[in-house]
Amino acid sequence: MSDERKHGSGSVAPGDTSDRVGMQVIRERGGDPEEIREALIDAIGAEFSTYYYYTNLRTHLAGHEDYKEIAEDARLEDRAHFELVMPRVYELGGHIPRDIGDFMDRAGCPHAELPEEPNAENILETLLEAERCAIRTWSEVCDMTEGCDPRTYDMASRILQEEIDHEAWFIELLSMERDGETNPAGHFVRGEPGEAPYSTNNRINDSA
Ligand code: ZN
Ligand code: FE
Repeated sequence: MSDERKHGSGSVAPGDTSDRVGMQVIRERGGDPEEIREALIDAIGAEFSTYYYYTNLRTHLAGHEDYKEIAEDARLEDRAHFELVMPRVYELGGHIPRDIGDFMDRAGCPHAELPEEPNAENILETLLEAERCAIRTWSEVCDMTEGCDPRTYDMASRILQEEIDHEAWFIELLSMERDGETNPAGHFVRGEPGEAPYSTNNRINDSA
């Protein structure tokens, strides 16, 4: 009989769809799946808002086509971060807010609004600070999930890789634009815009 096997049964009754083994195993390892889930909603609220605000920031970099290209990679990768983690919220028994206003109110980072004086220097500084908030956010999620929730940890650490890339890109660009200083990011260009080499979710209609 299956319940004589080591993992054949556990704390969730057979056929019970009101509870999730995927949450219980986190609890059994000392984690708090509800707390993780709520932190994820705040974090992807910030990713979603960044995607929106970067659209506007990028538009105002007209004439700086090199900056626009890099802002575009960061913009699309932040959308990829939202898409990667959104299903995890449901796996952890939650849902994204019905009202996008509520979703934006709880975003864990300040909105990356177009600066009063939207020159390249001010826009790059806004971009840089948004990336720094993302690094803090995903580092916190890594801390919360390390050792108890390998699935969320894996997502957060993959996103963190890209946020650290993004910070390095904008340090390089702002250093030159504002201070005339060379401060290399040391990265190669993405293969395609917003490639998200670490975090990309399955593409919709991907025939590959
Ligand atoms: Zn991001
Ligand atoms: Fe980013």
